[in-house]
Amino acid sequence: MAQCPLCNSLTELEVFCPKCENRLDDSGKVSDYLEPYAHYEAAETVKMGDVYPNTAREQLCPHLMVCQQCGYDEVHFIKEV
Ligand SMILES: [Zn+2]
Ligand SMILES: [Zn+2]
Repeated sequence: MAQCPLCNSLTELEVFCPKCENRLDDSGKVSDYLEPYAHYEAAETVKMGDVYPNTAREQLCPHLMVCQQCGYDEVHFIKEV
């Protein structure tokens, strides 16, 4: 069964705020309480490459990345492996 490497602490996602360059905090998996993601800017994951929110959705784990400094947030879709 596919598992999200981020949820399982196998990897860390390093994403930086485009506004203030602070490192974004991973607020965890968002699919349980956030649907749809339309009002968030869906960003490609930095490390995972060509992952898009509309393909193989069940194998993607959406993580809300938040900047604690300025409040910027975006959803990164982590490919489950
Ligand atoms: Zn996850
Ligand atoms: Zn920021």
